[in-house]
Amino acid sequence: MTIQENIPLAPKTTMRIGGTARHFAELTTKQDVEEAWKFAKEKNIPLIVLGAGANTVFADGTIEALVVRILAQEIEVSGNTVRADAGTILATLVATLAKRGLDLSTLAGIPGTVGGAIFGNAGQGPQGVWIDHYVQTVTVFAGGEWKTLSKDECRFSYRESVFKHWPPPVPPILWKITLTVPSRAADDIEKDITMLLRKRSVAQPNFRTAGSCFKAQPDGTPAWKLIEAAGLKGSKIGDLQISDKHANFLINTGSASFDDLLKTVEKVRASVTQPLHLEMRLIGQDGRAIS
Ligand SMILES: Cc1cc2nc3c(=O)[nH]c(=O)nc-3n(C[C@H](O)[C@H](O)[C@H](O)COP(=O)(O)OP(=O)(O)OC[C@H]3O[C@@H](n4cnc5c(N)ncnc54)[C@H](O)[C@@H]3O)c2cc1C
Repeated sequence: MTIQENIPLAPKTTMRIGGTARHFAELTTKQDVEEAWKFAKEKNIPLIVLGAGANTVFADGTIEALVVRILAQEIEVSGNTVRADAGTILATLVATLAKRGLDLSTLAGIPGTVGGAIFGNAGQGPQGVWIDHYVQTVTVFAGGEWKTLSKDECRFSYRESVFKHWPPPVPPILWKITLTVPSRAADDIEKDITMLLRKRSVAQPNFRTAGSCFKAQPDGTPAWKLIEAAGLKGSKIGDLQISDKHANFLINTGSASFDDLLKTVEKVRASVTQPLHLEMRLIGQDGRAIS
């Protein structure tokens, strides 16, 4: 594993905002993971794990941390049991399994990696199916050792997992995920995937955004409804726009800054009566998540 210095982070995220990582490494083996963990520990700096960056936005300037990107992408299938590396692109997993008559179509259209999906328990919305539905175990490197957590130990709920609440500075690195995936006719699975992708392309923007900014309310009310009712749909701060297609999606229309993003989040929160919790991961210059 090579540790690089001062690497730009904006190109590694879908929203294309952010400064540079003081230290950056790509991890493909278990040994890389152990070395990265040791590096962060010895330097006493935060370690930030990045999948495809579809839900993460970094602050401008230098992020004083080791940012690692997980590149391991192996998929193993045995009957209905599927083992996928955390760096596997979720869409690749969904499509690969569909060809074999294994149905993960409920997760079609969600950008990012399997690791990112497990971290945030990705799914189609508060009433939809989330990835935890399929999880058997998750193997992580945490506290300097390899551990395999059962589904219960992962404490999944709507957009939540135990991994989101691990004490800083060095969070667990998710490495291998074992799923149980039900069988169905490949053609039917493909049809559902196509239908879901079409639905998304009509309802959501998918360029220079990090997906939903805020979580839905505990009663299931989607955040976009509240933002739209507050009259903010389509409004702009700098180059940061509240999408006019879907009011819970923020778009970088050019060279939006992290500050534009924070101001937009504050503006939305000030305009909506209900408390709004962030779904996106915003990482400050100190390497910590902003909530
Ligand atoms: C157009 C669009 C549509 C979207 N629609 C949905 C949707 O319908 N449902 C939904 O749930 N999400 C949606 N999202 C958000 C995003 O796709 C998910 O959150 C996805 O799971 C993020 O995966 P990622 O690999 O890009 O994670 P990243 O953004 O890279 O990381 C997200 C968080 O997970 C952590 N993480 C990632 N990999 C690991 C790992 N291996 N070990 C430890 N921690 C890790 C990171 O530290 C970070 O805190 C959407 C995003 C976009 C851009």
